[in-house]
Amino acid sequence: MKTCLYALMALSFFVASCSGGDELRRASETIKADELREYTRTLGADSFMGRKPFTPGEEVTVAWLSGELERIGFRPAFGDSWFQEVPMVEITTVVDGKVVVSSGKKRIELSAPDDIAIESPSMKQVVVLDEIPMVFCGFGIVAPEYGWNDYAGLDVKGKCAVVLVNDPGLYTGDTTLFKGRTMTYYGRWTYKYEEAARQGAAAVIIIHEPVGAGYDYSIPRKSSISPGFYMEQAEGDITPCPVTGWFSAESASRIMSAEGYDVEILRKDACQAGFRGFELGSSISMKLLNSQVKNSSVNVAGILPGRLHPEECVVITAHWDHFGIGEAENGDSIYNGAVDNGTTMAWALEIGEAFTSLKKRPERSVIILFPTAEEQGLLGSSWFAANPPVEPQNIIACFNNDLLLPIGRMKDIMVTGFGQSDLDDMLAEAASRQGRYLMPDPNPETGMYFRSDHFPFAKAGIPALFARGNCDSREFGKEWAAAQEKDYIANKYHKPADNYYPDMNFDGIVEDARAVFDVAYRIVASEIRPQWKPGSEFANVR
Ligand SMILES: [Zn+2]
Repeated sequence: MKTCLYALMALSFFVASCSGGDELRRASETIKADELREYTRTLGADSFMGRKPFTPGEEVTVAWLSGELERIGFRPAFGDSWFQEVPMVEITTVVDGKVVVSSGKKRIELSAPDDIAIESPSMKQVVVLDEIPMVFCGFGIVAPEYGWNDYAGLDVKGKCAVVLVNDPGLYTGDTTLFKGRTMTYYGRWTYKYEEAARQGAAAVIIIHEPVGAGYDYSIPRKSSISPGFYMEQAEGDITPCPVTGWFSAESASRIMSAEGYDVEILRKDACQAGFRGFELGSSISMKLLNSQVKNSSVNVAGILPGRLHPEECVVITAHWDHFGIGEAENGDSIYNGAVDNGTTMAWALEIGEAFTSLKKRPERSVIILFPTAEEQGLLGSSWFAANPPVEPQNIIACFNNDLLLPIGRMKDIMVTGFGQSDLDDMLAEAASRQGRYLMPDPNPETGMYFRSDHFPFAKAGIPALFARGNCDSREFGKEWAAAQEKDYIANKYHKPADNYYPDMNFDGIVEDARAVFDVAYRIVASEIRPQWKPGSEFANVR
């Protein structure tokens, strides 16, 4: 099967290079630095008000994006509309009084949010947990491809599942166990919440640990006191656990030691294949007051219908939302998001224009999608992946980007989630045609593959790529590139200073856009269906 696929791919590369080579090059050259600059300057302007969902900034942004899609020759992707409504609910949770963990006469009182960070994705106004049993479920992972089931033999229905963050590969460094230090999706907190819900748990609480989480306890603490955004549940969806959250490392160790356990020893034990979870012997009680506000935002998308197979498509994505107007820093209160995600929307529009400039429309369709509410937890892209305008199995591939740094031409193309699918091999070919090389994300333990808009596609079984030049400047080398990224993260990322600056250099984003155009073109101009690599956690979804 594999051999057939590669033979087919090789054949179609050959065909493309004979018949479409010059045309591909010509279309690719419509991707230009000055156009990327103009798009970025516009999207990062104060008149877009920081592009926050549910605000006047949303109206300006989505109207402008649909206008640009039309101008470059796309048609509305949702029937006769450019917009797909994404129903969301904003939930604010207040913990009323203390959270109490008790067993027999022992009683531990925890204060939210300092000792325990609690959220409640529930439409109920009052949620009460009254002395429900706590069950230690190891890493909270059910992964058939690794022969791993932390819930085997456990009944957590109506109970509180207590789980460890990340996966056993990180703590053992054993590359035969999950993916070693590279975080699998099983390591992400979102997965742990979803699995606990599938098991019927009434609550799921993760034991915080900074290395495995990739951040301090201050992050879940802060997010627990901010309103959470959730998609409105569709009928038939598994309802999420009504109570989710994190124990700080200190409170977890108090709770465990009261029952005679040690968190570090439990973590070591839970890394062993065949580990069995158990009831902790204590129960947890809390009362939560929720307030819900329903609101909806929109995804924006255009389609270039395929000539022969319009029902099959590739999707190119770049989220449009950012943080709007907020707390001022250095006298600036507009969170313009020029790099997050203006440069990337520019990248998507330029790829779109390369497609419409082709003399002959390709066989399959191209969809350019600008999802909403990425910053709130990939909500727009999740909604699109669950409710696509074409049959889900006809989405052949997704190409997403985020945070494209305008720092000039790069030798590398950094693939976040390297080794997941055949798209890597196709991109490697495109990279070598540009005199570039592919490299894996140097920090795979942070699970970045699970933190942008390609991920809901991957979860739906659609091969999805998140790749950009990032680490090796053609002109100034690796250290310089690392310093640029560090400077952006420290001084501009999610801050009002993420503005358009005239010294931005778009030459590298030109090459990134051309590389993705190259790969996407070869897919829509052929019958190639890229596959997940064996061993990928998404290989068995479709
Ligand atoms: Zn972003």
